[in-house]
Amino acid sequence: MRKEKVVIIGSGPAAFTAAIYAARANLSPLVFMGFMSGPPGGQLMTTTDVENFPGFPKGIMGPDLMKAMEDQAKRFSTVCLAEDVKKVDLSKGPFLVESSKTQVLADSLIIATGANAKKLDIPGAGEGEGEFWQRGVSACAVCDGAMPIFKDKHVYVIGGGDTAVEEAIFLTKYASRVFIVHRRDTLRASKIMAKHAQEHPKVEILFDHVLTKVSGDKVVTHVEIEHVGTGKKEEREAGGVFFAIGHTPNTAFLNGQIELDATGYIQVEAKSSQVINKPGVFACGDVQDKIYRQAVTSAGSGCMAALDAERYLTQKGLS
Ligand SMILES: Cc1cc2nc3c(=O)[nH]c(=O)nc-3n(C[C@H](O)[C@H](O)[C@H](O)COP(=O)(O)OP(=O)(O)OC[C@H]3O[C@@H](n4cnc5c(N)ncnc54)[C@H](O)[C@@H]3O)c2cc1C
Repeated sequence: MRKEKVVIIGSGPAAFTAAIYAARANLSPLVFMGFMSGPPGGQLMTTTDVENFPGFPKGIMGPDLMKAMEDQAKRFSTVCLAEDVKKVDLSKGPFLVESSKTQVLADSLIIATGANAKKLDIPGAGEGEGEFWQRGVSACAVCDGAMPIFKDKHVYVIGGGDTAVEEAIFLTKYASRVFIVHRRDTLRASKIMAKHAQEHPKVEILFDHVLTKVSGDKVVTHVEIEHVGTGKKEEREAGGVFFAIGHTPNTAFLNGQIELDATGYIQVEAKSSQVINKPGVFACGDVQDKIYRQAVTSAGSGCMAALDAERYLTQKGLS
């Protein structure tokens, strides 16, 4: 079976940055980009303008940014396979990595499989014709909040934890009013965050409510909310809807071989990409980051993972 020095799983900013650094260090990385597990190119393939990635003063389309990263990685002789990794064996090095078509051994492994935002199946909030995903419906206030469509509009945030409160408060910079829609009668957020939300002049919490419909024309113009106790429905004007109900890190293929935290994220050592208790296995990007979740932070941690892998290989005499 063929053996690689560095195998990278994923194809977002973390994976391609790791590939660029590993390739330039003459480690000839092999990248499993995914196929069914998510769009090859990662989450940015599903968006339009990216306005906060440094180096693009006029912004850049998400798919164009990812194509440029892939091309840059390939320029330095990275090999990319559009295949999903189904199985790994991390019990000993070299690690076995398996897709439906390819089996390789890896002296070091970089996991950059990202995380998917959880969404609810609300009519109008999905993707496709007549739906408003990315046309007023989002799952990332930092990414999309500054879009003109939300300016001075009423915006609805679905959730009740710290993330929902953070997203709501962030959105008050742009929206005229932000409503947190929460199905329970108290927030799950920490006391201090809940207090911030309750005292914020532009935030209103709709306890015991669910959002049942999103509608509009080109972009979102209305939402329907329902009281969970009485079943009373109300249509309201709205410029946007943000899901803030958590993310699912893409770690199922690891089959319990790596320590995950309570919410399923890979745990790495402080100031490192080294996966806890798995020497030679590194993680970067959203799959190990539940705080920042941005393209640039993913890229930064991809660089760390490649440098950490290179150091590991050198120390083991494998480079
Ligand atoms: C709609 C939207 C808009 C966004 N806008 C912005 C923005 O404007 N600015 C910003 O900084 N951030 C933005 N983000 C966040 C940003 O996209 C993420 O933080 C970033 O993409 C995370 O990068 P990543 O490398 O960790 O992985 P991801 O981009 O999540 O990519 C991981 C990829 O790995 C692959 N994969 C998964 N499992 C497997 C497997 N088993 N085998 C092989 N491959 C696998 C899949 O192809 C998956 O798509 C946005 C996100 C979304 C959803």
